[in-house]
Amino acid sequence: MRPFASTISLEEARRRLDAAVRPIARVERVRLDEAAGRIAAADVVSPIDVPPFARSAMDGYAVVAADTRGASRDAPARLRLLDRIYTGRLSTETVVAGACAEIATGAPLPAGADAVVMVEESGRPNDREVEIFAEAHAGQNVGRRGGDIAAGDRVIDGGDLLTASRVGALAAVGCADASVFAKPRVAILSTGNEVIEPGEPLPPGHIYDVNRFTLAAIATAHGGAPESRRAAEDTVPALVAALDACAAADLIVFSGGSSVGERDLVVDAIAARGEMIFHGIAVRPGKPTAFAMVGGTPFFGMPGNPTSCLSNAYILLVPFLRALARLPPHAPRTVRVRLGRRIASAVNRHQFYTVALKDGVAQPAFKGSGDITSLSRADGYIEIPADQSVVEEGAIVTVTLF
Ligand code: AMP
Ligand code: MG
Repeated sequence: MRPFASTISLEEARRRLDAAVRPIARVERVRLDEAAGRIAAADVVSPIDVPPFARSAMDGYAVVAADTRGASRDAPARLRLLDRIYTGRLSTETVVAGACAEIATGAPLPAGADAVVMVEESGRPNDREVEIFAEAHAGQNVGRRGGDIAAGDRVIDGGDLLTASRVGALAAVGCADASVFAKPRVAILSTGNEVIEPGEPLPPGHIYDVNRFTLAAIATAHGGAPESRRAAEDTVPALVAALDACAAADLIVFSGGSSVGERDLVVDAIAARGEMIFHGIAVRPGKPTAFAMVGGTPFFGMPGNPTSCLSNAYILLVPFLRALARLPPHAPRTVRVRLGRRIASAVNRHQFYTVALKDGVAQPAFKGSGDITSLSRADGYIEIPADQSVVEEGAIVTVTLF
């Protein structure tokens, strides 16, 4: 057994991770249908006016506003009906003084007209004439050409997160695809002779691989493209070969083999191929977490225990991956509630303690670092700083929700 030389604080670990992250530079084009949630790699300038033509904002009558001066229900303006204009068709008529055209919402305003009177303010005494019951002013109910976006306007800034509405802006100016930053390729690999792929028979002394799936789920949810590998054996050559196989990734995440048991060989594999940035953090769970650079590629060595692994994935991997992917920082929701039972915490370790919310009270849910149900049965966690050893029953705590 080789003990930890020392652990670093959570704050120091975060500082070193922040210093190591290089936001992805690779760019790709994606179809607009796949652009939501991606980060724009360049400004987008509109080649067209939106709307591309002056259009009616109402179902009603396109008129010359001056013709409606003084119009009321008692003294309607009477106009000659020239045309019926539906969407997608230009009228060949010109609306001259004393005339009007029926027009649908979204249809092009005919030449000569400068206002639309909504249908509710009109009457139809006969087939050829229209009565207008209210005065219209020029521009009324007319969507001006380029009023939304003018040709040459910037609709997207490089670095923008493409939300549903920004994808909509791209569609409005006719873009069929978008230039976005590539999703970081995240190579995910479990280590351990005992680790078996779910779906396969479970020989005695073996367990199913949990971490590969929790880590892939995290990677997908936070802008990464996970690439899962089969679990590697606990030998230095096997781990070095596994590292080499991940050379094309933007981020490598191993789990297991990162603590101080004699079979915990990730440290040796890193010594052979890269530079350790830290190994051992004063957090609980998740102390045996390593971070290294392997030939320019960042490497996380997560603990094998599923709860430790996932807890540190939330706390350390998510911020790192989001920065790598150029996503805005994750802002998990928090709630302030009463604690249902006293919690004793390890001194000198920043503890993440999972809780389940029941009837507005936070009930401790942490079983052990090895138990996935410590997380899967929890709604979130509370943090207990390194210098605090106990949180009393009834205390108001801040729960960060998953
Ligand atoms: P290690 O960090 O390799 O010493 O593993 C600590 C504990 O986590 C051991 O009980 C392992 O069997 C278990 N473990 C390691 N990797 C995984 C995994 N991928 N899925 C589930 N449990 C694991
Ligand atoms: Mg192991």
